[in-house]
Amino acid sequence: MTKEDRLEAKNPSEKFLRMDRIPHIWCPGCGIGTVVTSFNEALKKSKIDLDDVVVVSGIGCTGRVAGYVKLDSFHSTHGRAIPFATGLKLANPNLNVVVFSGDGDIFGIGGNHFIHAARRNMDITVICVNNFNYAMTGGQVAATTPIGANASTAPYGNFEFSFSLPYLAEAAGATYVARWTALHLRRVTKSIQEALAKPGFSLIEVITPCVTLYARRNRLGDGLNLLKYYYDKSVIEHGADTRTLDISYQGKLVVGKFIDKEKPTFLHAMNEHMTKILGDKFVKYGE
Ligand code: SF4
Repeated sequence: MTKEDRLEAKNPSEKFLRMDRIPHIWCPGCGIGTVVTSFNEALKKSKIDLDDVVVVSGIGCTGRVAGYVKLDSFHSTHGRAIPFATGLKLANPNLNVVVFSGDGDIFGIGGNHFIHAARRNMDITVICVNNFNYAMTGGQVAATTPIGANASTAPYGNFEFSFSLPYLAEAAGATYVARWTALHLRRVTKSIQEALAKPGFSLIEVITPCVTLYARRNRLGDGLNLLKYYYDKSVIEHGADTRTLDISYQGKLVVGKFIDKEKPTFLHAMNEHMTKILGDKFVKYGE
């Protein structure tokens, strides 16, 4: 490759991004961009028609993803990405609907929507970037902040028990559950590919602590060093019992694919049920 070629070289994600919106708003060293790259790679490898993919985000740093991807996308209100995605899926079951948002949005503000979409086994893929706090609004303690960690609303350390997202997802009914760090690029890509291909409710949690607020307040380093710390602390345990996956402050981090099971989706269950009741008079929907 000549120097001229290098200067002309395009961003490999260009096909998937609205380049007119770049540069993005994310802080240097934040892992959200890395997760977006894995998502783009998963789309490329899945070879799915991009016209059939929709991304829905809520509010927060990760919520900005919807504005950057070159797909049909919706930046919805705080905590409401999942009900919005549910509506899209039911209106057009051919779509591959992806919710891409943060832990505060999906599990704090929108926690109730998460558990009910998982309970119904709604056929959507949820990618949750877990940054351990409410970043966009100033680093407040969140439902995922580890016990003992400092936050702007927990200056003496957090004492609230936090959610284990994989445990919550499995208990609520999800059929695919995985957790990685942002530096597990290929693993995140593979999990997104699997989730896109899986009929049912999928959760992929990606750990990437907020470098600007959480890490600075807790004096945990910055940039690549921070991401590498969590990558090095992680232990891959596919199929691990989700009851054992709590995240302790700076402790061991269990990652892997924990759940991958078959269960009728919401639409399939509805079609089966209504056919039993109405027989030939019922026209199956979306299958
Ligand atoms: S505030 Fe935190 S989560 Fe938000 S973009 Fe910056 S580093 Fe990332």
